[in-house]
Amino acid sequence: MSQLYGLLRFYLTRLFYRALGIRVNYWRRQVGELWHMSPDERGRSLERYLAEDPLHDACGGTISKLAEINRAPRMSKEVFREAAGGSEQQGSAKQVGSRFARHTAGTTGAPTHITLNRTELGQMLGVRDYCFRHHGIRLGEAEARIWGRPDKGFKARLRDFLLNRRVYYPTGTLAETEVESLVKSQSDYIYGYASLILEAARLIEQKGWEPPPVRCVICTAETVLPSQKRYLEQVLKAPVVEEYGATEFDIIAFECREGHRHLVNPWLVVEAGDGQCLISDVSRKSQSIVRYELGDALTLRVGSCALLGSFKYIDQLEGRSINRFAYLSESEKFHSSEFANLIDDYQKEHNEIFRFRIEQRSHAKFLLSVYPCPSTGAKHLKEYICDSLYKKYNCKIILSVDMAPTSKSLNTKSGYFIQNLNNINEQN
Ligand SMILES: [Zn+2]
Repeated sequence: MSQLYGLLRFYLTRLFYRALGIRVNYWRRQVGELWHMSPDERGRSLERYLAEDPLHDACGGTISKLAEINRAPRMSKEVFREAAGGSEQQGSAKQVGSRFARHTAGTTGAPTHITLNRTELGQMLGVRDYCFRHHGIRLGEAEARIWGRPDKGFKARLRDFLLNRRVYYPTGTLAETEVESLVKSQSDYIYGYASLILEAARLIEQKGWEPPPVRCVICTAETVLPSQKRYLEQVLKAPVVEEYGATEFDIIAFECREGHRHLVNPWLVVEAGDGQCLISDVSRKSQSIVRYELGDALTLRVGSCALLGSFKYIDQLEGRSINRFAYLSESEKFHSSEFANLIDDYQKEHNEIFRFRIEQRSHAKFLLSVYPCPSTGAKHLKEYICDSLYKKYNCKIILSVDMAPTSKSLNTKSGYFIQNLNNINEQN
């Protein structure tokens, strides 16, 4: 009975997309076909897109060939935001019915408006369905979304119903009730912030509950350490995969069964750049996006795994560009990912699972916030990190450890490392 209900709900959601004119199946197949082509063939296909409908770069120059992309000027979020405001005004009267809006609050606080036509939204959802199917789930199956505080308004509830999604908020006073209804749900997959999924898993483990019967857990928006991933897999009894995306593009990279975060959107040209990821969207017609500065730093690697999307995958996700380095002095620095590696090693060695955030306060001075406190004690953890860094870089850092009073106070949405040196310099 519940299986039949699940199937009905899935078809209802897919019908809802169809009613909006969004062809998820069609675009998923297109995505699969494009990735099945040789790089040359795929390149020719993208060239045709550009020749038919050229893009415009940040300075208004025309881009009608792929080779012209990496010579184009970079497009900052500010430039894009201004252009988006202009095109929205022009387009609002004539095409309002066929447009979909996505909004991003952005790290700078200024919202960016993304407008998409049916084709563009269809392509994004096609990429999503393509990635999901690799892990045995389909877009439209029952989603347990572990997210911020659920919006209980009528519109949000209707949307969640139509998208076959339920939102759970596993922290705060209602945490137990929320997680209890999660484990009782017939969800097909879990989707959400790694930190909140960790909270839910911790509660499930504490209570000795059986996890919900999900077939996959998808972590988005935050870095999840290998040790945390293993813990989630063990408690939730399902594979845990990482999605890397942005509101402007939806999914950019998705983890395959072998653990590589492959580039998965065939219409995107992703340049790792120098500490700044640049993205161009060849198929986007509503808004021209050429060498858009995503604000993240990452490195790409070309492998031989053909399980999902491109041969290119994200080797290292270095977080927000502004938070890339930890500074010991004006001239000495190390990669902030070093902290994540050390904490991952610590969790593995001592069989601990906790969340953390590191903030640089001044040169060589850091504040580490953790939740919950590891059973080994704050001092032990602090010495481990300081000693390891000393051995590796021959440098001494001053580290204070702060026990975050609640999981909520440990906000890691902008990454686990926060570079606050600039603020200090400005204040001085
Ligand atoms: Zn792979």
